[in-house]
Amino acid sequence: MSGFVQEYLNRVRDFVASVDLNLLVIVLAVGVVYYLSAKLKVAKSRAGSEVNALREEIEALSRETAELRARLSAVTASGVEVSPSVETKAPVPAAAPRVIPAAQPRAVSEPEPRVELSPMARGMAKSRGSFLAKLKTLFTGGRSINLQSLDDLEELLISSDVGARVSGSLVAAVRDHVGKRDGVSELELRELLKEGIRRELIVVPNSHRLYQPTGSPLVVLVVGVNGVGKTTTVAKLATRYRAQGKRVLCIAADTFRAAAVQQLKEWGARGDFEVFSGPENAKPAAVVFDGIVAAKEKEFDVVLIDTAGRLHTKSNLMQELEGVKNSIRRHIPEAPHETLLVVDGVSGQNALSQAREFNASTPLTGLVVTKLDGTPKGGIIVAISQELEVPVLYVGVGEKAQDLIEFSVPDFIEELLPNTTDDGRAGAGGCDNAAASNASMA
Ligand code: GDP
Repeated sequence: MSGFVQEYLNRVRDFVASVDLNLLVIVLAVGVVYYLSAKLKVAKSRAGSEVNALREEIEALSRETAELRARLSAVTASGVEVSPSVETKAPVPAAAPRVIPAAQPRAVSEPEPRVELSPMARGMAKSRGSFLAKLKTLFTGGRSINLQSLDDLEELLISSDVGARVSGSLVAAVRDHVGKRDGVSELELRELLKEGIRRELIVVPNSHRLYQPTGSPLVVLVVGVNGVGKTTTVAKLATRYRAQGKRVLCIAADTFRAAAVQQLKEWGARGDFEVFSGPENAKPAAVVFDGIVAAKEKEFDVVLIDTAGRLHTKSNLMQELEGVKNSIRRHIPEAPHETLLVVDGVSGQNALSQAREFNASTPLTGLVVTKLDGTPKGGIIVAISQELEVPVLYVGVGEKAQDLIEFSVPDFIEELLPNTTDDGRAGAGGCDNAAASNASMA
């Protein structure tokens, strides 16, 4: 052994002799414990994932078993021999006698009954879904509405576009109720909200819809900003009046938009109503003047006037409308009998501010809220009607001629807040009511 190695060994021996043996033992013990616990952790997590995988496998197998059982009983009920190749993982009692009923209907091929939705139910589907989903969040974990959760309720109502004022009054009604008891359940809350919304909405008497002036046609002026669905609404209204057997003339006074005139003519050809138009870029007031003369001469029952909504400034637009009204009054002093503002339901609060502006300059007799089918903001109907004190007369629920329905407060409320917390109904309810009320008004 060389001197160098000898010296190295001596140093190691000296070092070992100088180290406290107890300390060494402790350090070694800690190291061993640490190593073992790390090993244990790894083993535990492996075992955990294996257990989970097994659990999933068991669940999949039981689903498969249930499915096979269902198929087996359906096949047995239909009287067809069970093929031996159909393997079932569920045990089948060997000695059980198989009864084959003679004239059992074949349950497997039976078509699912289709639930036909009313137009109002279709139109309100998005609003209802969104409103009910929000409402449910107030009751998660079996909670009920109490004084602390009223702020959440108010926030929810405002976010559903029913407007700050209506939200305030609805929450006040719920607060009164909560004050008298421990809490309010979901169904009770729906009832309270329904009552409140019914109070806020303006109800139109049915006789209003049958109004027909004597000695002149009924003149309906349709106003609104560009793109909200005015021309479409005029065409839909014309189609409705035609279906009632009335002679209808539409005056295409949106002379700034050649496409609007053309669009109306195409609707007229399909819906069997006449369209009066002037030369391109003619003054709307001049076209209306001539149109009313023609309507009186030819004894039309109803005149619907489609106006422009694209003037550069608000005051221009209002002046233009004033000119159109003057043209009408030169021939029929008490007309227009109706001034309908069309607003786009998709634009929510924007629709409300448009309605405010129009109402300030030209008194409105009714509102038409379009595109209800494409918006979760159906609550805007409550806000507009309450703030302007103008009734919503029609709602648009699609692009086809028949997709304009007369607005009915009970149907609207029932579609927004169905009488049950079962979401399965959320599409079909109110169907019969809506259909019945629509039919009676047509
Ligand atoms: P105007 O500029 O106000 O005359 O608007 P239009 O009548 O030209 O309509 C603008 C767009 O809205 C068109 O594509 C229409 O088909 C569509 N529209 C109108 N009403 C409804 C409705 O109730 N539902 C849906 N989904 N679309 C609509």
